[in-house]
Amino acid sequence: MHVAWPRTGSPRAVAASPEERSDDQELSRIGVMSGPGHVTSSAGEPAEELPRWVTLLRAPNPGPMTLDGTNTWLLRAPGVEQGLVVDPGPEIAEHLIAIAERRPFAAILITHGHADHVEGARSLSERLGGTPVLAKDPRHCVGGAPLSAGPLKAEGINVEILSTPGHTRDSVSFVASIGDDRAVLTGDTILGRGTTVVAWPDGHLGDYLASLDRLSSYRGVVALPGHGPALADAGAAAAFYHAHRTARLEQVRDAVKAGAATAQEVVARVYADVDRSLWWAAEWSVRAQLDYLHERDREFPSGSAGLDPP
Ligand SMILES: [Zn+2]
Repeated sequence: MHVAWPRTGSPRAVAASPEERSDDQELSRIGVMSGPGHVTSSAGEPAEELPRWVTLLRAPNPGPMTLDGTNTWLLRAPGVEQGLVVDPGPEIAEHLIAIAERRPFAAILITHGHADHVEGARSLSERLGGTPVLAKDPRHCVGGAPLSAGPLKAEGINVEILSTPGHTRDSVSFVASIGDDRAVLTGDTILGRGTTVVAWPDGHLGDYLASLDRLSSYRGVVALPGHGPALADAGAAAAFYHAHRTARLEQVRDAVKAGAATAQEVVARVYADVDRSLWWAAEWSVRAQLDYLHERDREFPSGSAGLDPP
């Protein structure tokens, strides 16, 4: 178990009870929501070409919450021996072997602690003979100090660590550059398709909106997301997400004004267009939104305590 997930207060699932899922199963599924009729359009134009020092290895773990699978990004400066791995993905031997075949690597970087991104990190590190694993959350680090905002010394590549909490508390993005050639590795903060889940209660909507503001300054810079295709413009995608979140927030506010008395009732009104099998994940986002509205307006009923009857 790599990520602590509070069992109490976790939302009741609509389609399947959370008790029927293991925590790891649940965590590996909470990357993304992209149900039919939801925001399934791309958050921006796909990138036509990637920097030549970037390679994508996609893990074979497709699913409704992971799109085509988790993206493992390999970065290696031309003529430099040591590369970097960003998000080794789940513990799937064939995927970890495919990464290891591209050795050597100076470090394994982690965007956030969800199992579908970090689960394979420890065994990949062992496979590579002890390559350090660097994450913001010390629980995921192996042989190195936790990441903090600022520059990271890497072989031939400049890597700036941006603190981008919201999807989870420990989410970071990496701005990688060689000269003027830049790319932003966004983890699950921005995805290549659909919208992401604010994984309440670890995630926080206010933090998430601030992180999107931070990323919106990367106009014209390629986004390399944790799932889905690379996007041509990270800044435009961040602005799109921000607008989408703000619109959803208004819908949630309206649903409560119109009489929705539980988080599930809000989901039923606001996410009516989303496949019911994903409503349990929608409920996390709704709880995050209710908490945010309550923080900003104390008159607003509290999502995690006051709105639901005991
Ligand atoms: Zn995630």
